[in-house]
Amino acid sequence: MLNVTASFDLSALQARLARAASAAHTAGVDALLVSPGPDLRYLVGYDAIPLERLTLLVLPAAGTPTLIAPQLEEAAALASPVGALGLPVRTWGEIEDPYAIVAELCAGAGKVAVDAHMWAEKALHIIAALPSATVVSAGPVLGELRAIKDGAEIESLRRAGAAIDSVHAQVPSLLRPGRTEREVGRDIADLIIAAGHVTVDFVIVGSGPNGASPHHELSDRVIQANEPVVVDIGGSMPDGYCSDSTRTYAVGDVGDEFRAMYATLQAAQAAGVEAAKVGIACAEVDAITRAVMVDGGIGDYFIHRTGHGIGLETHEDPYIVGTNQTLMQVGMAYSVEPGFYLSGRYGARIEDIVVLTDEGPESVNNTSHDLVVIDL
Ligand code: ZN
Ligand code: ZN
Repeated sequence: MLNVTASFDLSALQARLARAASAAHTAGVDALLVSPGPDLRYLVGYDAIPLERLTLLVLPAAGTPTLIAPQLEEAAALASPVGALGLPVRTWGEIEDPYAIVAELCAGAGKVAVDAHMWAEKALHIIAALPSATVVSAGPVLGELRAIKDGAEIESLRRAGAAIDSVHAQVPSLLRPGRTEREVGRDIADLIIAAGHVTVDFVIVGSGPNGASPHHELSDRVIQANEPVVVDIGGSMPDGYCSDSTRTYAVGDVGDEFRAMYATLQAAQAAGVEAAKVGIACAEVDAITRAVMVDGGIGDYFIHRTGHGIGLETHEDPYIVGTNQTLMQVGMAYSVEPGFYLSGRYGARIEDIVVLTDEGPESVNNTSHDLVVIDL
């Protein structure tokens, strides 16, 4: 039985399938071959378990898409929107060769594209099954489609943003001298789930010198008085959309030098959010953010790109990096997350997820950007 939401989702999925087929045609690809993962979920709403057995959407540039699935997964596939979409499902039994079905469905194809996350083992089987076809990555074709979010996806990112904001709002009550990063991290993980996420994707609690490593996760280090703590957290919501937000907390008095650098960081992050507009290159958003850090004398400590796209994956197109000449469009969603990292001393980062709307950039994260000082 379909409700209003489900039927809306179906038309969105049908539109995605049509756009993907057309993008494949434009790219000179005869078929897209998509295994379980974010691309499959994006195209047909099927959050299939990644198994050694082959599940594969064969999406021709012209013609009807078909899902190849193990017999024992048929019920799960049909219970997903694949059933309501009415896509043909070709099942295979335990002693059959699923790659023979791939060969049959792709007969005559000169070029096929496999999703960028496909297990190498499966890609190699596909190459062997299609000796006369060139096999390329579908990453560019699908990445470009997924980079432009529709209205429902933007709503999903807003919900994810509000959920992680509610966790950040509770972080000051967890941070105090004498607790370890791991203890704080466990509490945060519980809060991420309590806020409505179904998975905890990462919890970074970088206290003192650990804050100088951007992807430090958790350690048994004991938080000291009068040091900054970088907290970067995210999870996935029931609909698959991800949250990702960083705030930097001061446990006591972190000193004038840190506060001065933090003021520059705050200005850089705000400039990066405001920089986005239709037609500007992603590289330019990075340059505008970086220029504020350089002018403030801390450019050398900003050792990573400004941000990454986000949606069904925490990191996806478009990347906000100096080499990316992709032009920004309405519907792009990405992080703006400059930071400074002083090895052996401390670090700081401020990260929001931003959506470029018709009215300009909109942050889905809205907790204060000020250094959050926890009085001791
Ligand atoms: Zn991020
Ligand atoms: Zn992050």
